[in-house]
Amino acid sequence: MGLSSKSSDTHSYRTTLKHRQRQKRYYQANREAETTKQERYRLRLKTETLTYYGKGGKLQCCWPGCNEVDLDVLTLDHVNDDGGRGRRSREHGSGTKFYRWLRDQNYPDGFQTLCGSHQLKKEILKQRRAAQGFRLLMAHLKAIPECL
Ligand SMILES: [Zn+2]
Repeated sequence: MGLSSKSSDTHSYRTTLKHRQRQKRYYQANREAETTKQERYRLRLKTETLTYYGKGGKLQCCWPGCNEVDLDVLTLDHVNDDGGRGRRSREHGSGTKFYRWLRDQNYPDGFQTLCGSHQLKKEILKQRRAAQGFRLLMAHLKAIPECL
């Protein structure tokens, strides 16, 4: 009697465990499917946007002589970057949200596709120009006696 009741408990415990595992698998699978769906949408939107703003309407970096076509390293660049990156992300969000906003606006001018290296290169050139401008300004101020 004692033995049979114990085995029945074990059985129901196993059933519950199995049921829980099945539920867990179901939720995991569902979550993965949902993530995959979102990921596919994100990639499609990114591809579409970066293709539009790419070199010659192709998914490619716009920097002269650059042939980078890897979606993972391509990014959208604000052509006349006047510190607008922060403002832009505040207004329209970033990533998928921003790509969607651009598409809703029928892809306005002022953006280009750049690879990560050339995004960085652009930033370096900008800082170098700013430093040169500062040196020129200092030289100019030194030339004016009352400024010293
Ligand atoms: Zn590039």
